[in-house]
Amino acid sequence: MNIIIIGAGVVGSLIARELCRYNVSVTLIEKNIDVGQEVTKANSAIIHAGYDDEPSSIRAKFCVKGNAMYTNLSQELDFEVKRIGSLVAAFNEEEINTITELYNRGINNNVPNLKLISAEQALEIEPNLNPSVKAALYAPTAGITEPWTVAIAAVENAVTNGLNLILEEKVTGIEIQNKKVKKVITDKNSYTADIVINAAGLYADDIAAMACSDYRTLHPRRGEYILLSKVTSSDLVKTIVFPAPGKMGKGVLVLPTVDGGILLGPTSQDLDGEYKEDKSTTQAGIDFIIEKTKQLIPKVDIRNAIKTFAGLRPESPQKDFWIEESQETQGFINASAMRSPGLTAAPAVAMYIAQQISQKYSLKPNLLFNPQRKRIVNYINELGDEEYDTLIKQDPLAGRIICSCNKVSEREIIQAIKRGARSIDGVKFRTRAMFGDCQGSFCTFKIMQILSRELGINYEDIRYNKPDSRPVVGNTRD
Ligand SMILES: Cc1cc2nc3c(=O)[nH]c(=O)nc-3n(C[C@H](O)[C@H](O)[C@H](O)COP(=O)(O)OP(=O)(O)OC[C@H]3O[C@@H](n4cnc5c(N)ncnc54)[C@H](O)[C@@H]3O)c2cc1C
Repeated sequence: MNIIIIGAGVVGSLIARELCRYNVSVTLIEKNIDVGQEVTKANSAIIHAGYDDEPSSIRAKFCVKGNAMYTNLSQELDFEVKRIGSLVAAFNEEEINTITELYNRGINNNVPNLKLISAEQALEIEPNLNPSVKAALYAPTAGITEPWTVAIAAVENAVTNGLNLILEEKVTGIEIQNKKVKKVITDKNSYTADIVINAAGLYADDIAAMACSDYRTLHPRRGEYILLSKVTSSDLVKTIVFPAPGKMGKGVLVLPTVDGGILLGPTSQDLDGEYKEDKSTTQAGIDFIIEKTKQLIPKVDIRNAIKTFAGLRPESPQKDFWIEESQETQGFINASAMRSPGLTAAPAVAMYIAQQISQKYSLKPNLLFNPQRKRIVNYINELGDEEYDTLIKQDPLAGRIICSCNKVSEREIIQAIKRGARSIDGVKFRTRAMFGDCQGSFCTFKIMQILSRELGINYEDIRYNKPDSRPVVGNTRD
């Protein structure tokens, strides 16, 4: 049996890994140079506790379960999850009513250890919270991670378990015969398929339209962010600090990143369907984030900003995930409309889809499946002085620091390339080089030199992230 997954975001990557637990042929097709580089790379990175979703929703069904699964998943795949907890702060009677509703919803959704706490308790947890806070909802199971790392780790592990990973091929059609999926057609090849799983993120509606007429349309809901320097701002908050939610979602928040920075955002702006690539930030969006986050944490200082960026939520009119087989086309399964909390829910969604397929087609287990994968170690931050010194004597490239903000050595960059990085962002998202205060100003060219040497390619052939994103287009003089 051939199973093809379209889209290597966090959802498709985890589905691919889950399916490798069975004795089937699994292929993952991604149009980009690398995995996890679309919705998965630009979001709040929160493993949500699960009190926000209506108990009847598909989101609620998968969020709390996905949250719990991250503990084991992060151990098996060796990526970081920090269970730092979240606070929803209420500043008046109406907001106290809102957080009480969230508490009751959370209890209904079986969120563990949820608590309504007093202003004093909230300020004890988060001393920089606006002192006019009246009460808060505290969820200790909420956490943060690096979503792209989840996708990278899942795919690395799946490949060692037999996954056929196809990068830089865009799915352009799906052949149907007798109301069953037959082939997936890309801009370069065609692949025979018994089952097709649509995990194409913002483009899942376009992919579904290739296979059936019973699909849900998607439009982007843009979320803009500001990242503050970890050097100046890392002690601003310890937990994820939310305002009371409104009609457009969870509101603008302040939270730490796994790497130690502070993230402010996101905004929430619906765009028309044709703006699925519009990741621009706006003056209005940035001003709004500053205003809203200062109301929550008055010490927010925008002079510490090192980057602004935007992500696009795949939003459907139903405002819920769409996880089911098409009624019209047998073998075509949607994992679509994965707006927030899609990152949190992804492991549970992946397990559900794999188990459904396994039961329906009586799949046999892959007895050789190995769930473990190891990450690239950051030598300076993780090794003791003596151990690092010995390593440098054996391997001088382990001591040659390329990214001085995040202390990433040439050896770590070479390891990233050996594990599949083919672009500048491929190195960045595997090693955290270029993620620091200078945002790559000092190390991008050194990384390009290493990519060129290790891959045996010219500078003109190096890409940032997308197939056509080339930083070098020719000589300035001959
Ligand atoms: C602003 C914002 C904040 C969010 N915050 C959170 C949060 O804090 N916590 C949380 O749980 N969730 C959050 N989410 C939601 C979460 O980010 C998404 O649910 C999740 O990343 C979706 O992953 P995905 O794999 O479905 O999509 P993607 O990551 O977009 O992956 C889809 C892949 O399909 C590929 N593709 C598309 N078309 C084709 C084609 N024709 N051929 C081949 N490949 C194709 C794309 O290139 C892409 O790599 C947030 C989202 C946003 C935008």
